[in-house]
Amino acid sequence: MGIAIEEAKGILVYMEQNFGAFRNVGFELLGQGRMLADKFGCELAAVVVTGENGEKLAAQAFQGGADKVYMVEGKDYERYNTDAYVYAVTELVKEYKPEGFLLGATVDGRDMAPRVAARLATGLCADCTGIGVEEEKGLIAWTRPTFGGNIMATIICPDARPQMGTVRPKVFKKPEMDASRTGEVVRFDPKMPAGTMRTEFLREEIPEGVVCNLEEAEFIVSGGRGLGTPENFKLIEDLANAFGGVVGSSRAAVDAGWINHLHQVGQSGKTVGPKVYIACGISGAIQHLAGMNSSDIIIAINKDPDAPIFTVADYGIVGDLHEVLPILTKEVNKRKG
Ligand code: FAD
Repeated sequence: MGIAIEEAKGILVYMEQNFGAFRNVGFELLGQGRMLADKFGCELAAVVVTGENGEKLAAQAFQGGADKVYMVEGKDYERYNTDAYVYAVTELVKEYKPEGFLLGATVDGRDMAPRVAARLATGLCADCTGIGVEEEKGLIAWTRPTFGGNIMATIICPDARPQMGTVRPKVFKKPEMDASRTGEVVRFDPKMPAGTMRTEFLREEIPEGVVCNLEEAEFIVSGGRGLGTPENFKLIEDLANAFGGVVGSSRAAVDAGWINHLHQVGQSGKTVGPKVYIACGISGAIQHLAGMNSSDIIIAINKDPDAPIFTVADYGIVGDLHEVLPILTKEVNKRKG
């Protein structure tokens, strides 16, 4: 069952990988894990579950700030499988007893974290946007939006260990990699009993035309209800293509059935952090801002000069997107030669 409070020590970060390559969120969490470990005066460890490339992944985790890497490597872990990963990570946490455990709020992280927390009889603060320290009790202070994003709640887990949280990708910057850092790799065999894996991977089908790599994109053009019709997403695609970027959307456009939900940016969609985010015909509701306001440069196109999106925009164009977008696309294409 649970881990005794007096036995728990150290901070653990789950480093999510896909076919032997880390997702950025793991590094972002190592940065936060390092901050917590330094504050608590304890060790920062990473857990890597993978089918391949273990040594290479461990080297990268050290460079990102881990002092130690717990490695679960084998054929059963080639591709994310709920039963296998939950079993392995739960057993590992029981064995090494961290006091804090950070995971990415990705599709896999959101699937795995609550199951691991339930098996360990501890709490989980899901979908955090901030991590700090509650000085008086010496606990991790997790911050997350609540009540539809209108207030921020800070949550602690005083009575169970580990203190667990999932954190959205792109909320924190990836720390500088330090090529001179190295550490100890501890291999862990969870000895998964036969029959633990109840599902088998058969095939994967991605709907045609759907690009899902919003979270890693450096350039995003997003469309909202102001587009007026689904056909007008062509204007968004044209500008995104001109920049070599990715198409995003508000929830209103998704709810209207104009675009697949995989493109949705915001509190109930994806959190993005591109170099440039162009919001077209999007009012700037707090739930949309929650997913994009850490973008480096925000450009808004809206015909209403009082639209809230202009309060977060670095550059604003007050105008009709049907006129503005073709001009922008033409100019970008012209400059590309
Ligand atoms: P609107 O608010 O209708 O804005 C349309 C904008 O287009 C207006 O500002 C208008 O001036 C402008 N416009 C109209 N015509 C033109 C034109 N021709 N040229 C230029 N501008 C024009 N929303 C999200 O986006 N993502 C989320 O993840 C999300 N999660 C939510 C979770 C919860 C629990 C709740 C309650 C809501 C959530 N929402 C989310 C919904 C959110 O509150 C807003 O309803 C939504 O973001 C509005 O989308 P929009 O800006 O496209 O539409």
